[in-house]
Amino acid sequence: MAQRLHFSSSSRPSPSLPTPNPVAASSKPNRLAFNFSFLPHPTTPTRLCFGTTNRRRLTVASDESAGGPGKKPLLEVRDLKAVIAETGQEILKGVNLVVNEGEVHAIMGKNGSGKSTFSKVLVGHPHYEVTGGSVVFKGENLLDMEPEDRSLAGLFMSFQSPVEIPGVSNSDFLNMAYNARRRKLGLPELGPIEFYAYLFPKLELVNMKSDFLNRNVNEGFSGGERKRNEILQLAVLEADLSVLDEIDSGLDVDALQDVAKAVNGLLTPKKSVLMVTHYRRLLEFIQPSFVHIMEDGRIIRTGDMNIVSLLEKEGYKAMSTS
Ligand code: ADP
Ligand code: MG
Repeated sequence: MAQRLHFSSSSRPSPSLPTPNPVAASSKPNRLAFNFSFLPHPTTPTRLCFGTTNRRRLTVASDESAGGPGKKPLLEVRDLKAVIAETGQEILKGVNLVVNEGEVHAIMGKNGSGKSTFSKVLVGHPHYEVTGGSVVFKGENLLDMEPEDRSLAGLFMSFQSPVEIPGVSNSDFLNMAYNARRRKLGLPELGPIEFYAYLFPKLELVNMKSDFLNRNVNEGFSGGERKRNEILQLAVLEADLSVLDEIDSGLDVDALQDVAKAVNGLLTPKKSVLMVTHYRRLLEFIQPSFVHIMEDGRIIRTGDMNIVSLLEKEGYKAMSTS
């Protein structure tokens, strides 16, 4: 379902662009505010609310035993607890997960088990408040970082329902987002021509026509086109950890193969993927190093593809702890 973003700073978002991967408004209120502080426009109101007042300072967990020998941890989640900010209802009840560099992890689980909540808490979605535990990303306390800083640090999330951004062309969006990341990395920005040269091979990677670059972000895109566009963003931003929430939903087999090929093309010994899915099909295309089962806000089991076979034969009851 299409969701629209509303810019609270002015009725026209141009020339500023939102953070590379804006948080989707999944329920009311359907008004999001962005932090534009990473953009170089002195006239732009720079501090817009992103619901961060509820964030807590948490102790950074030590990285002992985080990875195996020789493995460098990228994401370390310890006993993470989070509630719905509005109601205080606890959804995440102690999630533990370590993703090392170069690994692909899959999270599966029944509807409502907390998979999307977990993904959104990682990127700092304002609907949720962290009440306990810690998350360390590349050695830094992720929970202390603003959502846009998380993205600039190399954490990317592809949402189950990517948002539309009226009035902002896809190419401008990508260019600005990419330059923001380059600035963060201390690299010179790319002008439009250099950026196009960088962008075109990425378009091919996701099998997307260049017409999509001139269209407003996700406006009028089909479900499959939105997913490809999300992966295009991922390819452009070269995120270190890509969190893909049901990237396979609503895709036909061809689109799924394109998306999977693109994701695989981005994997390097240092880059990792955390993907939420219900289906084996995706996992056959993007092979995970680990498969986790989430139930009632916790990861209750971790294994390899054999877990998926068991799941298919016996269902989630075979894993359930309750
Ligand atoms: P999954 O992705 O595993 O299907 P979710 O993380 O989307 O599960 O949801 C977990 C539970 O939390 C569900 O019962 C869902 O209704 C509830 N929930 C998540 N976000 C919100 C929210 N913003 N407001 C109210 N309930 C929510
Ligand atoms: Mg979900």
